[in-house]
Amino acid sequence: MKFASTRGGIAPASLDVALAAGLAPDGGLYAPERIPQLALQRAGTTLADTATLVLAPWFAESRLQPSLAELCTDAFDFPAPLRLLSSPNDHLLELFHGPTAAFKDYAARFLAGCLSRLRDPDAAVPTTILVATSGDTGAAVGAAFHHRDGFRVAILYPDGRVSPRQAHGLGCFGDNVHAYRVDGSFDDCQHMVKQALTDAGLRTRIPLGSANSISLGRLLPQTAYYAHAALGFRERHDAPLNFIVPTGNLGNALACWLAKRMGLPIGHIVLASNANDVLPRFFSGEDYAPRATIATLANAMDVGAPSNFERLRWWHRGDAELRAAMRAFSVDDASIRASIRHAPDRHGVVPCPHTATGLHVLEQLRADGDIRPWAVVATAHPAKFETIVEPLVGHAVEPSPALAAWLARPATSSPLAIRDDALHSILLAGDHCGNTPRIR
Ligand SMILES: *Cc1c(COP(=O)(O)O)cnc(C)c1O
Repeated sequence: MKFASTRGGIAPASLDVALAAGLAPDGGLYAPERIPQLALQRAGTTLADTATLVLAPWFAESRLQPSLAELCTDAFDFPAPLRLLSSPNDHLLELFHGPTAAFKDYAARFLAGCLSRLRDPDAAVPTTILVATSGDTGAAVGAAFHHRDGFRVAILYPDGRVSPRQAHGLGCFGDNVHAYRVDGSFDDCQHMVKQALTDAGLRTRIPLGSANSISLGRLLPQTAYYAHAALGFRERHDAPLNFIVPTGNLGNALACWLAKRMGLPIGHIVLASNANDVLPRFFSGEDYAPRATIATLANAMDVGAPSNFERLRWWHRGDAELRAAMRAFSVDDASIRASIRHAPDRHGVVPCPHTATGLHVLEQLRADGDIRPWAVVATAHPAKFETIVEPLVGHAVEPSPALAAWLARPATSSPLAIRDDALHSILLAGDHCGNTPRIR
């Protein structure tokens, strides 16, 4: 199977080349020339087994094919339960049981496993994984690459726009992982990372890798939990499962769409955005118009120019066809607050602000008379956003054990100006590794 660039400027590449490169050399995103079809009758025994089955066609010609089962066992070793909420057709797909308490743990760990195995073991210089984060990606990627031989990680995050616990989590790794706080937005961080990754001159001087949600190594593994949940649901109810996906950069929802296109029993897909409503505007018929980011309570979704939109559009023949593929709703901060406040009574759960956007959309669908089975994707653990959640629900939210371990560690980060040359100089100086205190 070959992977083309969404910008059409390169000869199609193998999966291994696309995984190692992250972004295509012409600045586009890698996308498969065709989508393989699966005729799976049932889920695997474990999430890791389902992941191995679902990912097999993508890896058929990869050097990683013999390691696929092991890669999946390592990355998918914590559960993704489909929890029934208070009403019979309402579900929550809980993706926050991993080391950094967000769904991104699955894909970050899978990608790290792939890149370690693809790396030339004799390479003299470590590869620097560059990651722009609105909060959770950086932590998941930091955790996935922490102490991995041959890799360093430089995390860029918007200063003051991530929760205090998220900021702590980004800076607590030490060793080969370093966090930089940028005096700007997530889009500024993402722009700097994209610039560095497409700067051929820079890349001849320092090996760089990407781990943002544009990477195929993030997108493909995320199909696994949709497949596992939807197959399990069909076995029990003989019906497809519909998903509401809290959305920012469009990586998670795109994986849901991809799983559906691979033939898995997924019904409708609805995107829940926060006040950054570029996607809801597009899906309601306006032109696609990226705009400046607005800071909201669901900060991991504060994205004004969703990177994966380019891939989604490439896969469709025209915007009319794309608009028929999914719907999108915008949820403002007042509704997020109300959704968190009412969730314990209405649904029997305490949600994080991102998950709360999804629950709000579910309530709107129900109010409009929709009686189909829906699963809201729970993208992070509420204790990661305790300064928002606790006052609204009126009690403390217990951190998961992994989160508690994080909070017990010291954290550091360095300031970074919004200038490409500032990023280049820290990369070339190798500051992003080794000179932070070793934390054990
Ligand atoms: C990253 C993130 C999102 C948005 O996911 P995308 O793949 O960027 O659309 C939603 N919620 C949480 C908690 C996240 O960390």
